[in-house]
Amino acid sequence: MPELPEVEVVRAGLERHVLGATITRVDVLHTRPVRRDPGGPTGFALALTGRRIVAARRRGKYLWLPLDNGDALLGHLGMSGQLLVQPSEAADERHLRVRLALRGAAEGRELRFVDQRMFGGLSISSGGAELPSEIAHIARDPLDPAFDDDEFVRRVRRRGSGVKRLLLDQTLVSGVGNIYADEALWRAGLHGERPGERLTARQVRALLEHARVVMTDALGQGGTSFDSLYVNVNGESGYFDRSLHAYGRADEPCDRCGTPIRRVAFMNRSSYFCPSCQPVPRRPRALPPGRRPLPPGN
Ligand SMILES: [Zn+2]
Repeated sequence: MPELPEVEVVRAGLERHVLGATITRVDVLHTRPVRRDPGGPTGFALALTGRRIVAARRRGKYLWLPLDNGDALLGHLGMSGQLLVQPSEAADERHLRVRLALRGAAEGRELRFVDQRMFGGLSISSGGAELPSEIAHIARDPLDPAFDDDEFVRRVRRRGSGVKRLLLDQTLVSGVGNIYADEALWRAGLHGERPGERLTARQVRALLEHARVVMTDALGQGGTSFDSLYVNVNGESGYFDRSLHAYGRADEPCDRCGTPIRRVAFMNRSSYFCPSCQPVPRRPRALPPGRRPLPPGN
């Protein structure tokens, strides 16, 4: 699954290669990727034809291309989606789903949505050029210059959920996937089950900084395709082989203390942590000061 840094690579590639281009033709080769569009495949194609792409933006893992009429083409890569800019004579990809022919700034090229598993998709967001209403509830990501650190710290410390669950809550912060959450928690020396309300402001702030470092590293290492015409994302990057301290390393020695990394089930996925550096919180957990258990019967 593409993580946020890879989606940012795609956004930057789109900005470089399709800005100012006019969409001259739209081919929907499979209806599933446009299933969220209220106009269906025909309305989708009509809404795009003749429009000019004026920017390339991102909120979390959503991408959108604002159009010259104030609408936007909104996209999500899902598990396996790719957005490719290809010369129009290039052979169709095996899982090509939607093709936009371009002229002007991207003369003779096509923007192609390729998706094997089709969890991702494209849709028109009416009036969504600035921020599509469909994704307005999604928080900014930690790499966004407008991300509000103080507000994040306050909100985490008001919540009783485990801090890993909070890191994955798209209404608090977007773009921190399972891998980056585990890596940031390892660096911060925090177990993911530690309740947000039991963390100090300093701990939450440090965790946020670790998430930023992990994601920025990944962005640097995943950025090799920036200069290529081939805007590509496939969910794999060199980062995952070289830089992981916790994720995917079950039973291997912790890079800090040598204790074997442990894997546990987490929301249909896995969490990886060092049981020494990231001690499991005590249970049953003590209630925070000022809070009393409800009397029996309530
Ligand atoms: Zn350790």
